[in-house]
Amino acid sequence: MKVLRLKYEKNEITKKNKAIEVCFKCSTCSKFCPITQHVKKYNLEDSFITQLFEAEKPEALNDVWMCCACEKCVITCPQDANPTEVFTNLKEKSYQEGLAPSIVYRLVEQLLQESTVYSIKFANMIRKRAGLKEVKKNEKAVKELNVLAEKTGLERKEVN
Ligand code: SF4
Ligand code: SF4
Repeated sequence: MKVLRLKYEKNEITKKNKAIEVCFKCSTCSKFCPITQHVKKYNLEDSFITQLFEAEKPEALNDVWMCCACEKCVITCPQDANPTEVFTNLKEKSYQEGLAPSIVYRLVEQLLQESTVYSIKFANMIRKRAGLKEVKKNEKAVKELNVLAEKTGLERKEVN
């Protein structure tokens, strides 16, 4: 099995994710990661975590967004190294640098407009057909989400 070899000096992974410094490259995390288990191009020889962490600029790879933050790697890591935190920070960097898949920006835009990750208009069309009550936009939630977005720098970005 290929072990995890982080490029400590080269990339920013260890600077921002101190916990990963204790990784002793046992690859236990990869054995339990659902992406390695279920996505064809990954396997225990070349696992999702290994390939992403070893990449030159992992935040530029759409696959970063495959990490579903299930934390199986965290639970099973004997060193408390926290690979999930690394992926969270990579996603943040990817988003801030405009490198995330366009669907991510669309979902954020949608969330800030209606506080839902689906279009209320579209949902209501389906609900009407099913004889269900209309859902309404939660203005208070929209306002609060926009305050949060402003305070956290999750500003609206142009969709690619
Ligand atoms: S399980 Fe923990 S120590 Fe082992 S390779 Fe994964 S992150 Fe490193
Ligand atoms: S949190 Fe991400 S990297 Fe960790 S096991 Fe789940 S999908 Fe894999």
